[in-house]
Amino acid sequence: MALYVQKYGGTSVGSVERIEAVADKLKKFKDQGHDLVVAVSAMSGETNRLISLAKEVQETPSPREMDVLVSTGEQVTIALLCMALEKRGIPARSYTGSQVRILTDSAHTKARIQDIDVERIQGDLAQGRVVVVAGFQGADAEGNITTLGRGGSDTTGVALAAALKADECQIYTDVDGVYTTDPRVVEGACRLERITFEEMLEMASLGSKILQIRSVEFAGKYKVPLRVLSSFEEGPGTLITIEEEETVEKPVISGIAFNRDEAKLTVLGVPDIPGVASKILVPVSDANIEVDMIVQNIAADQTTDFTFTVHRNDYNKAEEVLRAVATELEAREVVGNNKIAKVSIVGVGMRSHAGVASKMFDALAKEGINIQMISTSEIKVSVVIAEKYLELAVRALHSAFDLDKVDTVSE
Ligand code: ASP
Ligand code: MG
Repeated sequence: MALYVQKYGGTSVGSVERIEAVADKLKKFKDQGHDLVVAVSAMSGETNRLISLAKEVQETPSPREMDVLVSTGEQVTIALLCMALEKRGIPARSYTGSQVRILTDSAHTKARIQDIDVERIQGDLAQGRVVVVAGFQGADAEGNITTLGRGGSDTTGVALAAALKADECQIYTDVDGVYTTDPRVVEGACRLERITFEEMLEMASLGSKILQIRSVEFAGKYKVPLRVLSSFEEGPGTLITIEEEETVEKPVISGIAFNRDEAKLTVLGVPDIPGVASKILVPVSDANIEVDMIVQNIAADQTTDFTFTVHRNDYNKAEEVLRAVATELEAREVVGNNKIAKVSIVGVGMRSHAGVASKMFDALAKEGINIQMISTSEIKVSVVIAEKYLELAVRALHSAFDLDKVDTVSE
């Protein structure tokens, strides 16, 4: 029999009926003889509601008090779920993060888990109880309540699975797995049977919102087999796992990620001398603006052009900062565009295949889509294009890389 850590997200516990449905699901696993540790989120919308209550009282509340407040959402769901289990004759115990001793650092609202005391949980499991732990929260060494950042219950689930050496960490959510791309953009998008941690990490950083990025990092680091499944439908979901050597005919590309909320800025005619890149980017980061892609051209006439992308919300602020920098550097001009999007192909298969990038560029060229910027990593190629071509690009790439044909045969 297996030990599973299961995590149920906000929509899965969004009402009393849904909590009852989760209890039914847990009963099935329990009846099969499995040991269960469950991490739950707050009911959907609850964390946002709590945050807005705080904002009514104080514009920037102290992070410590914020954590005391927002951690209450999960305390509601652990208790209700245990009641629903007890009603079904299943012994269960709920614990807050601090009760179960999820020790974190003291970085309120974005704390990191340092240690989990598994003794109490193991004791309960030995007594045949289902253990239900509040996601998203812990306590620091002084006992202050901390939270792990939005979406942090995923990380609670993975950390519990790592500490307990669970057979699998199963993340139950409102989608039935990880797809080759967003099915709202490409009708033929397919659920992936498997994806590697590295690929999932790229997909998550590139805008796929299925899992909190940190939880994927954690799972990769501790090699926790992680499965994403639907709470509402039966199915095997997607297994996120380490790369396997013997894989037969692995697709070169596993998925296509995209992000619409991008903007780019270029400083034209920057002097080609040491220190220029930092003179441009330090004030940008001092203004708390995160920079994504960076491109600097080869110099001609002792000057060069320097381009980078930022989140669209930061465009105006970044432009302001750059104008000041450009004057100081005696650069020619600052130009920008906030109607761009980033499209990326992701796949560990790229490591062993040549010509992946050119195939991508060729597919885009055939659709008449101009590429404005390119960046690559070992397992990813990203391009910046005009936003209006985003969907066309994603569809073209999805079929160019034969993703419509990904094998999704159920186990
Ligand atoms: N309730 C928290 C949030 O909404 C944590 C979670 O759901 O994972 O971000
Ligand atoms: Mg979530």
